[in-house]
Amino acid sequence: MKMPFWRRRRAIVCRQAVELMAGYLDGALSGTERARLESHLADCPHCSEYLEQLRVTIDTLGHVEPNDLPDDALDELVSLYRRWQSD
Ligand SMILES: [Zn+2]
Repeated sequence: MKMPFWRRRRAIVCRQAVELMAGYLDGALSGTERARLESHLADCPHCSEYLEQLRVTIDTLGHVEPNDLPDDALDELVSLYRRWQSD
């Protein structure tokens, strides 16, 4: 049975991008991580939009740790990506 490989891979990359975002805005990523995230963002308007929302959140709170991201916000994001990708 064949998996739609590109779709599965893109979902994983989006999840990784989301996990890197807090560190990215904090300047805490290595050069490699930052380059990976930026090349994904250039290609993925959904993640770019989410990064903007995260930036606003950080501006409001002053600081955010990856663990501070509410689980239900992440779950919601993942289900949004699934919907986008099934179009
Ligand atoms: Zn993405």
